[in-house]
Amino acid sequence: MQTNQHTLSKACHFEGKGLHTGAPVSMKLLPAPAGSGIRFRRTDLPSEPEIQALAEYVSNTTRSTTLSQGEVHIMTAEHLLSALTGMGVDNALVELDSAEVPILDGSARPYAEAILQAGLEEQDAPRRYIELPYTLEIKDSRTDSWIRLEPAKAPSAHITIDFSSEVLGVQEASWNEETDYATQIAPCRTFCFYKEVEPLLKAGLIKGGDLENALVITEEGYMGNPQLHFEDECSRHKLLDLLGDLRLSGGFLCARIQAHKPGHTLNTKAAKALRALLK
Ligand SMILES: [Zn+2]
Repeated sequence: MQTNQHTLSKACHFEGKGLHTGAPVSMKLLPAPAGSGIRFRRTDLPSEPEIQALAEYVSNTTRSTTLSQGEVHIMTAEHLLSALTGMGVDNALVELDSAEVPILDGSARPYAEAILQAGLEEQDAPRRYIELPYTLEIKDSRTDSWIRLEPAKAPSAHITIDFSSEVLGVQEASWNEETDYATQIAPCRTFCFYKEVEPLLKAGLIKGGDLENALVITEEGYMGNPQLHFEDECSRHKLLDLLGDLRLSGGFLCARIQAHKPGHTLNTKAAKALRALLK
């Protein structure tokens, strides 16, 4: 496969709040030089420190993916990283004035649409594809979940989810280079189960969560009776998360990805294994 690197043609701007912190945040996606990858810059801190979107900086995977280096933290990076990957952005500088990427509507659609609108600029350097010499398998026997990454000529992903929920059932989702990420994957919103809401709030999480930015699932159905974007919106969202977390491998992964019940902990373990493999 041969494609050149791309960055944004112009800046995109977002205003929102963090899902977990509930804090207001202003964020800009800016064009960045070839070879620079995805970097975050905290403009609210005195020296405006930056952190590279790489698996070695993952510090927390409780309900979202946090990157940390010294005093710099970036929470809930995965939806933005997914959109940048799905929309073919190799290089971008993400400036934000708070510790958490805005949750917006709980999906990656606002990011994908803004990237489409800004347009991409081709850069004078070949895209960095991450290719595997052999199959990698990451397992968590406690949760019966696994991710398998196999060498392939073109990237693809297939996942299954099973939360033992009658409302969700067992769902699958797939993606490959032919999939229109912006319309098929990006619109799918984050979700949680109603029974988890109180424990999550007690753990100091989801302070910015509401029915405008998350699907909440009860024993009977979806709370507030929202219009689902797809019957299998939840598995598509888990695929969205997986693509975002795997971007922490540092490039575009050219592999056949299969995953069963993936979550941020397992996803970022896979990204870390890929980083170790590259070294
Ligand atoms: Zn998510």
